[in-house]
Amino acid sequence: MTDGPKSHGRLSIRASLVPRDLMDPNPRLQGAWCAKIITLFPGAFPGVLGESLTGKALQDGLWALKTIDLRPFGEGRHRNVDDTPTGGGAGMVLRPDVVAKALNEAARDTPRDRARWPVVYLSPRGRRFDQATARRWAATEGITMLCGRFEGVDQRVLDAYEVEEVSLGDFVLTGGEIAAQAMIDATVRLLPGVLGNQASTEEESFSDGLLEHPQFTRPNDWQGRTVPEVLLSGHHARIEEWRREQAKALTQERRPDLWEAWLARHRKD
Ligand code: SAH
Repeated sequence: MTDGPKSHGRLSIRASLVPRDLMDPNPRLQGAWCAKIITLFPGAFPGVLGESLTGKALQDGLWALKTIDLRPFGEGRHRNVDDTPTGGGAGMVLRPDVVAKALNEAARDTPRDRARWPVVYLSPRGRRFDQATARRWAATEGITMLCGRFEGVDQRVLDAYEVEEVSLGDFVLTGGEIAAQAMIDATVRLLPGVLGNQASTEEESFSDGLLEHPQFTRPNDWQGRTVPEVLLSGHHARIEEWRREQAKALTQERRPDLWEAWLARHRKD
């Protein structure tokens, strides 16, 4: 017994000499970019984000993921989260009071400034998600995402909480979870250290507003289809030029919208 406090003391002295960061199993978790997801299906996470590079980065604490189950905030014995659309019509709408409680939970220990911590509702009516948005989000401290279900969410709670509506594309999903995972994937891979090779995010599609050039690997001859000669030349300037021309031609052909924007930017420069 008499040794107890002493050894305790030694332990606590030793502990205090160890920086807190080193004691944390996930040393970089504090201050790591964090995604808080409000969803009726927390089991859908991390989903595909738990695989490969994003999964490794999650394990290493380069980013963090918190799911907030909407169900417990529901009303009554059945924890109802939705009700019929006011004015009539098919389906169900997520209640503003229930969603607000989940948003309040997500807002605990996060900055109120939406530039530092965006609050997003995944919605087909939103502005379309793109690489610029991924870049903007990767520069924040984290994000709160609200995944809708059924017919969507009562408009008043979106207005009251200054929620930004963002769409994955011009199609309708049954819920926001897949959209959330797609957007988090695009954002997380831009965080420092997540991709081994930082240069690859600078060269790929959209970084300069052009689609990426075609990629090839071995074998050089596959079923009689050979890789472009220039790529085997070892002549880096010529390879660069070839890739640039391919990127321009592809963009012009497939995405006239991107091509016009690129031309406009380069006329100004
Ligand atoms: N009635 C709504 C669609 C609801 S779909 C409408 O016409 O606008 C159900 C949920 O799926 C939405 O609340 C939203 O969170 C999600 N969702 C559907 N399509 C989406 C998309 N293209 N991008 C992001 N989220 C989407």
